Amino acid sequence: MTVRVTDIAAARPWSLVIHGGAGGPQTDGAARTLRAYHEGLRAAYEAGEAILADGGSALDGVCAAVRALEDDPVFNAGRGAVLAADGRAELDASVMTGDGRAGAVTVSRWARNPVDLARAVRANSAHVLLADPPRELVTEWGIAEADQDWFVTDFRVDQLRTLQAQGAPGPRHGTVGAVARDVGGALAAATSTGGMSNKANGRVGDTPVVGAGTYARDGVVAVSTTGEGEAFLEGVVAHDVYARMAYGGVSLPAAGEQAISTELGSRNAMGALIAVGAEGRMIVVTRSETMLAAWRDGDEIMTRT
Ligand code: ASP
Repeated sequence: MTVRVTDIAAARPWSLVIHGGAGGPQTDGAARTLRAYHEGLRAAYEAGEAILADGGSALDGVCAAVRALEDDPVFNAGRGAVLAADGRAELDASVMTGDGRAGAVTVSRWARNPVDLARAVRANSAHVLLADPPRELVTEWGIAEADQDWFVTDFRVDQLRTLQAQGAPGPRHGTVGAVARDVGGALAAATSTGGMSNKANGRVGDTPVVGAGTYARDGVVAVSTTGEGEAFLEGVVAHDVYARMAYGGVSLPAAGEQAISTELGSRNAMGALIAVGAEGRMIVVTRSETMLAAWRDGDEIMTRT
């Protein structure tokens, strides 16, 4: 499969690029219109952009965009996420700021927006990654709560039943993420997902693992990934982009292309990433037939499916 790089010049004092996952519309079947994806991406982009344009932080910007994507049931994150083998939504999310601090959750079941809980782990706890965080913690931290009814949609129940009837392993499709540089030059990344349909309960993908699904370092790069999570875990792909730039002096587009070609290509895996560099340059790198993403090009918000 060909690796493709979209290289987007910084045009403003801040930069934002978001994604709604690799392998989305095609593997999700015909039930969704492409229009729904375009509209969802645009709304999420605008939510993040409003914060950055107002001088807000990169962390606030990426979290606002990811929260909007989590609330939109067409994307595989938050409400409408794919379901684990027992029919439950077990959600993963992570955030990282360029000062080197991160927070993440896996098998999250009670926070309406897993990205908010990941952010709270970063801010409120002495830990980086919490598995199956209890509802009491969500309450204690004042984060919006939700029951399984909120997350589980008819579309995903049907999808799970079909996969189980076929005895097929679940396709990876979706995940949402955002990377940003704010007007002060700080970088941040956030990623959120339901993982893969019909996954084993308790399975942890790349999304909540710092360095695999999400990474940020001021002065270098912020990265958010999507695709076959096991390959991103084994290849530590988000950190690989950083390492190529920081230690090898490689440019942002070359580092993204090399990380995907090397780590996904050697595993024959499908996936993609978005990244923003220290000066605000942005990339979308794909080794997948589809990649939902949005960014601004001049006066236009570009959305791709
Ligand atoms: N990377 C996600 C996971 O493996 C799935 C995806 O991005 O489609 O959990």
